[in-house]
Formats: sequence, C-alpha cells, structure tokens
Amino acid sequence: MSGKAMKLVVVGAAGRMGQTLIRTIHAIAGAEVFAAVEREGSPFVGRDAGEIAGLGPIGVAVTDKPLEAFVEAEGVLDFTTPAATVEFSGLAAQARIVHVIGTTGCSEADEERIRAAARHARIVKSGNMSLGVNLLGVLAETAARALGPQDWDIEVLEMHHRHKVDAPSGTALLLGQAAARGRGIALAEHSVRVRDGHTGPRPAGAIGFATLRGGSVVGEHSVLIAGEGETVTLSHSATDRSIFARGAVQAALWARDRKPGLYSMLDVLGLN
Ligand code: NAD
Repeated sequence: MSGKAMKLVVVGAAGRMGQTLIRTIHAIAGAEVFAAVEREGSPFVGRDAGEIAGLGPIGVAVTDKPLEAFVEAEGVLDFTTPAATVEFSGLAAQARIVHVIGTTGCSEADEERIRAAARHARIVKSGNMSLGVNLLGVLAETAARALGPQDWDIEVLEMHHRHKVDAPSGTALLLGQAAARGRGIALAEHSVRVRDGHTGPRPAGAIGFATLRGGSVVGEHSVLIAGEGETVTLSHSATDRSIFARGAVQAALWARDRKPGLYSMLDVLGLN
C-alpha cells in the first residue's frame, strides 16, 4: 500500500453528491481531489471545484475531458447518471484504475457493460454507500429468513427529495434484494413495484415497494415485515449526504490494492 494520498477524480463534480465528495475528500488525509469532471456544456467547466463546493479555491479546475484526468489518477468517484457511468466504467478500464459507482437507476444492459469493464477496472458499486444502510440490509436478510412468506409480508417504504429521478431508490432495491436473499427467491419474480386501482389481494411471498417524493429529504427507508397482530420495522434515516461520500472514499481506498473485479459495499465493510 502506497503511503501517498490516493489521487481521486470526482465526476459530476457540480452535483449534490459531487460537491459533498469534494468537501469530504478535502478533509481526509489519505485522499486528494486530483481532478473534477462535469458534462460537456456545463456552466461549471473551467471553474475551481473547491469554490463550487463552498470550500474556496483548491487549485483544481473542472474539466470536461474525463480520460485525460483518469490516466493520471488512481480512482474515480461517480454519482452521476447511468449513461455517464457506463461511459466512465469503460474509461476506468482503459486507465486500469478504481471506479466507485454510486449512480442508481442502471438498466440490466448498463449493468452488463459495467461487469465487462470490471475485467480491467476495480469497480465498487452500491445503491447505498453508508455503513448504516448496508448493516440494515444484513438485518433485513436475517429477518426475512426467520419470518416466512406464509405468515409475514415484506414491504419497503422510501422517501427522497423532490429532485430524485429514479424510483424505487437504489437503496430500496438493495433492501428488497437483501430480503429476497433471506427468503431464497429472485426479487425480479416477486416484487410489486406499483399498486393502483383494484389490485386484488396481496400475493403471498411478494416484496412490495412504496415511493414518496418531496422537499429536501436526503433518504428515509423502512423495511416493514407485517404478520398477524404484529409488525417488525427496520429503518434508516440519512440526514447528511456526507455518509455516502465517506463510504465512497473508504471504498476507493479499500479497492486500491485489489485485483480487477466488481465488488459491493458489503465487501468493503466486511459484511459479506
Ligand atoms: P445531481 O443531479 O445533483 O448530480 C449529478 C451530476 O452529474 C450533475 O452535476 C450532472 O451535470 C453530472 N453529469 C451528468 N452527466 C455527466 C457526464 N457525462 N459527465 C460528467 N458529469 C455528468 O444528482 P445527485 O443527487 O448528486 O445524485 C447522483 C446519483 O447518485 C443519482 O443516481 C443518485 O440516486 C445517486 N446517489 C447514490 C447514493 C449512494 O450511496 N449510492 C447516494 C446519493 C445519491
């Protein structure tokens, strides 16, 4: 392991998570903001990344040339859009560096391209980078295993700010996957993602999702396991985006000396 600070590129540097990442990396001794990338045509290209993040100047101008930044860097922290993330994973593979992916809403075709990039890049991807939510997933898996589908119904409830563009959230899906693992079933075949109108009774063994959007809510998630006369509720509240940014930096530092491959936050946190 090198004793030098890890050189990190923040892509989507002007976004909500991008700005949080820049402030977080700046405060961590083992990592540095080596470059900051925004999309072509963004009004932030050319501006100082620290100023955008409210830190004051840090001497890193935002660029729209990701590959030039990647080839000199050791890792990329990416909370952008699925289309951008797929492109960045290809570039990270070319540069043979670490790619930490927090972006949610990826399609199966996107996931396939990310898996292909992981033959050369060290990729850590998770719908939620916080320790608390990953632990909640482990608890949900255990609870789902203990409380069987004949007597207990599982519902995942989430709320996020009004700007969020995908639903259910990546975290809700992560929690649903964990519950499905506990039950030994495939989530895709048992999930009920929307209910409207005359739905008929609830199918036994389904994992339901409910989505709320509004205001500035950073992220609220509950897994409800409802039986006859009792309900078990496991929940997590995020009040500050820095929990995701600290997890992302931890993931990059963890992946620094790993072999190429696709890892999850459970690997990073030793919860697997
Ligand atoms: P945001 O819209 O505030 O920021 C996204 C940024 O990416 C924007 O500044 C945009 O200009 C930039 N961008 C888009 N395409 C780009 C490209 N090709 N090159 C460079 N930059 C590009 O969104 P946000 O709230 O910061 O969330 C971003 C993503 O992260 C979402 O998918 C969200 O769900 C996810 N997220 C994940 C976690 C987690 O822990 N995994 C936590 C929070 C948010």
